[in-house]
Amino acid sequence: MALSIEEQARIDLAATFRIVAHLGMHEAVANHFSAAVSADGKKFLINPKWKHFSRIRASDLLLLDADDPACAGRPDVDPTAWSIHGQIHQRLPQARAVLHLHPVYTTAVACLANPQVPPIDQNTARYFNRMAVDEMYGGMADTEAEGARLAALLGGKRRLLMGNHGVMVIAPDIGEAFDDIWTLERACQILVTAWSTGQPLRLLADEVAEKTAQDWEKIADFSRQHFEEMKQIMIEADASLLD
Ligand SMILES: [Zn+2]
Repeated sequence: MALSIEEQARIDLAATFRIVAHLGMHEAVANHFSAAVSADGKKFLINPKWKHFSRIRASDLLLLDADDPACAGRPDVDPTAWSIHGQIHQRLPQARAVLHLHPVYTTAVACLANPQVPPIDQNTARYFNRMAVDEMYGGMADTEAEGARLAALLGGKRRLLMGNHGVMVIAPDIGEAFDDIWTLERACQILVTAWSTGQPLRLLADEVAEKTAQDWEKIADFSRQHFEEMKQIMIEADASLLD
């Protein structure tokens, strides 16, 4: 029997938490991922407050409604999660998956006076002219106005590099969102390593960077397959514990 949209989203989102924890990209018991399950995008799954990513099961995910103000007062809902993800799902129906992290290299780049990802290789070029930047960090986001501000900042883009904070990625699919935030962290690791040599970077020409970014956009199936492979690695790791 085919799984419902919500059942499949629960499985894929729970897998994403485990994969991201496995890769060390999570932050303590903070950070949030959500996935829309209704056609209008307003009903969404999100992780419960302060549960470690590595322990989140499909059945633990909360089903919230961006139109229901009662969600804000629930003890199992992190106020920052509601402020940001609630507003994104309220305003951007195309955001079927919303991932927010503070991964080390991406966050390091986000903390620079000029928080940009210049195109120096295939990974960095994926984000050429395709990332919004927030330079107005004002403490932990706990108001709907702050969530609305972040949603507006995306301005049609899929990634928001959050200055002095981290990153948020939205995508039409959980697998694509995972691969995108993973590749951005990889891109920033390469960039920070290149900067650490103290030698000048050889930037790609704009035309080459643009073509590379367009090439990435043609292979969303590559992103989804990366995610499927990572899910399989988690399944095999579980199976090995039972041997
Ligand atoms: Zn954060």
